[in-house]
Amino acid sequence: MSHTTEKLFFVDPYLRTFEAHIVEVQPLAQGFGVILDKTAFYPEAGGQPCDQGKLQGHPVRQVFEENGMIVHVVENPFQKGEKITGEIDCEIRFDHMQQHSGQHLLSQTFLRLLNAETIGFHLGKEEVTIDLNILNLSLENVEKVENQANQVVWENRAIRSYEKSPSELNTLPLRKLPELSETIRIVEIEDYDWSCCCGTHVQSTGEIGLIKILKWEKYKGGMRVYFVCGNRALRDYRKKMHLLKSTSLLFTVGEEELPTRLEQWKNERKSLEKKLETTRKRLIEAEKEAWLSKAKTIPYGQLIFALFENRDIEEIPLLARKLIQQSKTIVLMGENTSKKLWMGCSNDTGLDLRHFQNICAEKYQAKGGGGPCWMQWTFDHGEMFQKAFQELLSRVESMEIGKENA
Ligand SMILES: [Zn+2]
Repeated sequence: MSHTTEKLFFVDPYLRTFEAHIVEVQPLAQGFGVILDKTAFYPEAGGQPCDQGKLQGHPVRQVFEENGMIVHVVENPFQKGEKITGEIDCEIRFDHMQQHSGQHLLSQTFLRLLNAETIGFHLGKEEVTIDLNILNLSLENVEKVENQANQVVWENRAIRSYEKSPSELNTLPLRKLPELSETIRIVEIEDYDWSCCCGTHVQSTGEIGLIKILKWEKYKGGMRVYFVCGNRALRDYRKKMHLLKSTSLLFTVGEEELPTRLEQWKNERKSLEKKLETTRKRLIEAEKEAWLSKAKTIPYGQLIFALFENRDIEEIPLLARKLIQQSKTIVLMGENTSKKLWMGCSNDTGLDLRHFQNICAEKYQAKGGGGPCWMQWTFDHGEMFQKAFQELLSRVESMEIGKENA
């Protein structure tokens, strides 16, 4: 059957509730598709998402247009012929109207000031973007565009829509010419912008509220511009104020002093890191002697092993590497909290520690690896880590190195 749904949102984009008759119910994969004789529900089209709301109290999951018919996706099996009340979520709708009208205004301003055409528009739940066919965009130009767009907001110009036949279109300074040959809906911002558009719009530019560009980036050979209008701009301003306030509390300085304070903090941190590095080196040097005096004699030379608890995992490899600078030395060290294991040997032992890779990786499920004289592993389980440490230790002590591959 064919039926064209009467689009109430074109007549009155502020209409919130309406009564209608069900002309068809289609079973769909995700519920039922309800077609009404008329509707205030806007279907997803032209970069604007569909409306949300209820049909006779039942939530509408999705709204789309198919061959002139608007399909409302619901979970409830309505009956054909039923008279129902529809109610759209007017907060979401008004948000879409603010962003969409703001987009027309912004696109026209980019065209007027920078000769940049809008070739894409996306209205998301969080982000609103337009894609421009220009190669780059400076902060100065962004601010110029913002200033003029907001000026037009303050002038509170009327926004109206009307239909034009293809032959009448040449009389309008349209941003983009449509490809269709049928009657076209024009949305006009009084004496400023004329666009072919099927979206819902506010009735005057003042209702758009503040237009704020948030960021811009290179996108597919052009520029993508992120912006917010009206209530979204207010929410964004609020969010940023909270952020600034909490950060300035954290650093106990006024908002204006934050950049200086953070710069200072960065430098302080750098110099502290340098001091820590020097102290660490000195500590390791002193510790080296103590460990060497505890070395155990084995057939390859000497073995130094240790299992640490809660020790800085940056220090352990430093210490181990320092120790294997000694001739004929093997080092095995582990750290309980991080479940990390390090193994190293001096070149003159002639050993290849990669023979231990299979034991750690396969038998004890560790991740890691290395080279002939240096290996390190991280374990998932504490018990595996302990067992691996003991097995490696006993193999080194009993000269069972390389036997796995023999
Ligand atoms: Zn539009």
